[in-house]
Amino acid sequence: MNALETVERLKQRFPNEPEYIQAVSQVLGTIEDEYNRHPEFEQANLIDRLCIPDRIISFRVTWVDDKGKVQTNMGYRVQHNNAIGPYKGGIRFHASVTPSVLKFLAFEQTFKNALTTLPMGGAKGGSDFNPHGKSDAEVMRFCQAFMNELYRHIGPDEDVPAGDIGVGGREVGYMFGQYKKLTHQFVGVLTGKGLQFGGSLIRPEATGYGNVYFLESMLQTRGIELKGKRVLVSGSGNVAQYTVEKLIELGAVPVTLSDSDGYIYDPDGIDADKLAFVMELKNEKRGRIKEYAEKYGVKYVAGARPWGEKADIALPSATQDEIEEADARSLVANGVIAVSEGANMPSTPEAIEIFQQAKLLYAPGKAANAGGVAVSGLEMSQNSERLSWTREQVDERLKMIMSDIHQNCVKYGTQPDGYINYVRGANVAGFLKVAKAMMAQGIV
Ligand code: GLU
Repeated sequence: MNALETVERLKQRFPNEPEYIQAVSQVLGTIEDEYNRHPEFEQANLIDRLCIPDRIISFRVTWVDDKGKVQTNMGYRVQHNNAIGPYKGGIRFHASVTPSVLKFLAFEQTFKNALTTLPMGGAKGGSDFNPHGKSDAEVMRFCQAFMNELYRHIGPDEDVPAGDIGVGGREVGYMFGQYKKLTHQFVGVLTGKGLQFGGSLIRPEATGYGNVYFLESMLQTRGIELKGKRVLVSGSGNVAQYTVEKLIELGAVPVTLSDSDGYIYDPDGIDADKLAFVMELKNEKRGRIKEYAEKYGVKYVAGARPWGEKADIALPSATQDEIEEADARSLVANGVIAVSEGANMPSTPEAIEIFQQAKLLYAPGKAANAGGVAVSGLEMSQNSERLSWTREQVDERLKMIMSDIHQNCVKYGTQPDGYINYVRGANVAGFLKVAKAMMAQGIV
């Protein structure tokens, strides 16, 4: 397999899918050598079968808004690969959702899920529905309409969706309710559920906590302490919130948060009280991060991302392609020592190149943010045995999983000069697991 040629071929087959091509080309560039060590992989055309999703379901979602107007959106589920377990991955509601975005996310999810050590295949779904400014009743009706079609394609042993951008506990609850209504079955078909109906403790915290655990492991490889470090966090949703919570607990100093309108910079650090304000603002009032700056009298920069601020560490936790080449340059120039991705593919290929050339500790999302889906896997286990584990039990498992992922990255990603290429490590480790399972299962 020649990575560049394969990417070219995929580009021609799937024009106008830039996010998908970006994700595929990142992975192929790093697994090429390993792939070519196994002639049997090429004989089974594993590369096409691994890059092209098993199936893509797309459908119209029709719902009625509060004014009585009939609205339509597109709904999708990309079932990418189920070689190592049922399809698994979140649902994203955002105006930017396209088949290309969901194909990139489902592709990434396949490798990420393989890294968790748990038996989960890869999938992703979503809609171009924009939740901003929608009433609770509108969100409920939309979720029900979305599930009216999706329910035929999912199941606890088939495909288990969860949340992602624009989909949190509220949306998962509404979708679960509708699934139950349609199928008459109370089963673990979604994760990220409420605690009263089969959700797992630590699931809301898992992505953010997991990223900070991963960051700690990276810092340890250089004997650096997290305590006292100033940290740029982007986003202000679920991932960013619990990233900040864990940073505060471990004595680090988070100084920024953002949303699609701009970012805030708090030189004194975001403390527990300020975080409680953010959680209420974002989760209950569904307001804008600008209000933080107004309340605490700190700097707010409209229409920008926080990467120009001076700090020691950056934890991008908003969305794809939020760190571009110029951002990466200023992070390096400002002396950042580590970048660990809470979001999926937040750094562009040019930005990654800059981080790696500067020998920064740099962890891609598929390794660093795998804690979320890992605890989803633990939620599936708890649902299967109809038991709930304690906070401590789940947190302990999460820590173990993040440490295993880190070890796997070190195993497959350490270069002759000692630099750990976490991108290579994560891609090769995830790829080998999925590839071996696919080979064993024949040409299907
Ligand atoms: N959306 C999350 C991710 O990107 C979680 C998926 C899940 O829990 O299934 O990994």
